[in-house]
Amino acid sequence: MEKRDILSMTFDELSEAVREMGEPKFRAKQIYSWLHSSCVVSFDEMTNLSKDLRKKLDDNFVIFSLSIEKKLISEYDDTKKYLFKLYDGEFIESVLMKYKYGYTLCVSTQVGCRMGCRFCASTLGGVVRNLFPSEILSQIYTAQRDNGVKISRVVLMGMGEPLDNYDNVMRFLELITDDKGQNISMRHISLSTCGIVPKIYELAEKNLQLTLSVSLHAPNDEIRSSMMPVNKRWGVDELLEACENYAEKTRRRISFEYAMVNGVNDSDGCALLLAQKLKNMLCHINLIPVNEVKETGCVRSGKERIAAFSQILEKKGYSVTVRRKLGSDINASCGQLRRGSR
Ligand code: SAH
Repeated sequence: MEKRDILSMTFDELSEAVREMGEPKFRAKQIYSWLHSSCVVSFDEMTNLSKDLRKKLDDNFVIFSLSIEKKLISEYDDTKKYLFKLYDGEFIESVLMKYKYGYTLCVSTQVGCRMGCRFCASTLGGVVRNLFPSEILSQIYTAQRDNGVKISRVVLMGMGEPLDNYDNVMRFLELITDDKGQNISMRHISLSTCGIVPKIYELAEKNLQLTLSVSLHAPNDEIRSSMMPVNKRWGVDELLEACENYAEKTRRRISFEYAMVNGVNDSDGCALLLAQKLKNMLCHINLIPVNEVKETGCVRSGKERIAAFSQILEKKGYSVTVRRKLGSDINASCGQLRRGSR
């Protein structure tokens, strides 16, 4: 019999499993708390359970923990990049960032990615598989244990496309915000997507309080399709309609990410068209000077170009920021995460 992935189970599912084992109800609470508050990695650590029960759990369930294969620490800003090894020998990366208000972890949702964005390192080898909810959680639990800190914010902006692993990501969100576990506020979670339109509609119906980030990167189909193959399936206008619906339904401001690539999407004309396309949508625009990935050959826009672009948008009334780059000396910035550290 295959062992069940216990860390991916909700409290209700765990309670049911405990009942089926003929154990009293309160055991589910104890086990859930060991898993999601104490974040243990083996049943042997559950010291308020009998040896027999621990063995029974070990026979029937598996705790998918991660091993730290490599850890790089930025000399500039203390950002830490982890290379984690999964149970099947695959690798993923996560990035721990320290801000004034606490720790944020950038987590991966897939091993690799199949979206094929031209400027991104995560997609270079395609996708290998989806991460289980437990493996997304474990990135947080392992980073917390390794640093002796509490992570208060999570961004789903690592390797992979979260909405391409929709069900597991939704379950991850349910578990990480559970008050019987880490109890991270939904408002402290950001989910970034390259624009899987039907899933944006589906997510809108859930009406979660998380921040939706949309990797827009261009104001028209011609440029966007040349940068992001996903745009050939769902074009800019279709994507923006889905975003508008999302903002209306959830009353949450969407954050548009726009990687500035020299000579590709950074002209005044692009800024003006972007302002026009976003009309009066409830949104924020985050400009990201494109990060170097040696295989892509993308060159970042100059400082002045970015400032001019930003000014045009601001004059039109948009809220704009230029993303501060963390961990650039360890290839831990946006679009630089891979299935193996280099
Ligand atoms: N697949 C999701 C989650 C990844 S988030 C998405 O596409 O949104 C990572 C963010 O970094 C995305 O906005 C992505 O477009 C951006 N990015 C990718 N490569 C980059 C690069 N080389 N420089 C700057 N940003 C990059």
